[in-house]
Amino acid sequence: MNNPVTTSLVGLIGFPVKHTLSPVIHNSAIKFLGLDAVYKSFEVRPRDVKDFLAEQPAGFLGTNVTIPHKQTVIESLDQLSPVAAATGAVNTVVLRQDEDEGPYLYGDNTDVAGFLAPLLALDSDHVRRLEGGRIVILGSGGAARAVAFAVREFSPQRITIVARNPMKGNQLVEELEPVDLASEREELPQSSVTTFDHKDLDRTISEADLIVNATPIGLTPNVHITPLPDATFLSSQIVYDLVYRPRHTRLLKDAARDGALVIDGLEMLLEQAAASFVQWFGEEMPMDVVREALDAELNR
Ligand code: NAP
Repeated sequence: MNNPVTTSLVGLIGFPVKHTLSPVIHNSAIKFLGLDAVYKSFEVRPRDVKDFLAEQPAGFLGTNVTIPHKQTVIESLDQLSPVAAATGAVNTVVLRQDEDEGPYLYGDNTDVAGFLAPLLALDSDHVRRLEGGRIVILGSGGAARAVAFAVREFSPQRITIVARNPMKGNQLVEELEPVDLASEREELPQSSVTTFDHKDLDRTISEADLIVNATPIGLTPNVHITPLPDATFLSSQIVYDLVYRPRHTRLLKDAARDGALVIDGLEMLLEQAAASFVQWFGEEMPMDVVREALDAELNR
């Protein structure tokens, strides 16, 4: 007789998934809480995502989703959270149970809450200035999509997407424009697109209250490059880099040098993971334990 499978399985699907910190985060939490579970990375080719989710490995509770599947995975899911539907991107799949219909696949986007958490935790004029303020997002990929949606929380006056491919930037703006979950908001922000080599970029940056890097520029091993090599920052600005390897990117070092308030990508990484974890296990992630495990991993 076969032993029944008791170990629960969660993980990450992407292609490739080599340098992810997610197993360190989730497995340290699983170990601390004494759960009979494991978090694994699965390198799944785009053409195999549907089959992976239909066949589901033994003990499957759900999975994180990363590049390049965040948008295409949606066609393999049964239901989306309002945030996933609004952003058109999923980073968390949960195998849920319906009393009548049985198991079904639910998609959520915890990048949105993960991005907002470090900003909402700040009690600062910098954050208060975002209401009616100007926000610049560098990049127009999956993370930029989550950020462009998330920053509506602050009812900014203007969101500018800086894209190397303006067509992709325009597509993002067009898709996000009609979406407003917070329907009581009186006005949607004005959104526009510019490019990294536009002559007015310096002015756009100097007028911004929040600048978010949602490109991989500055990521290890390219630690000496920055998406904004010519920028001077202001002490009234927040500069937020989603890159977390290294934590102190060249962009953040430049911004800190000029006195801006800087936020690195590690806290977002933790918060989006915590928001996935609780959906799979029904338990809160022990943040201090996970922070310690991450620090150890990053200092190795
Ligand atoms: P993505 O979907 O591949 O998008 C990357 C974006 O950056 C695209 O718009 C791309 O332009 C642009 N880009 C790439 N290289 C560029 C360059 N040299 N110059 C100008 N633009 C460039 O990736 P993503 O999922 O959005 O992730 C972006 C970054 O955020 C990654 O570093 C990722 O690790 C980080 N991230 C962090 C967290 C966190 O929790 N901290 C969460 C999600 C993502 P094209 O469209 O023209 O290719």
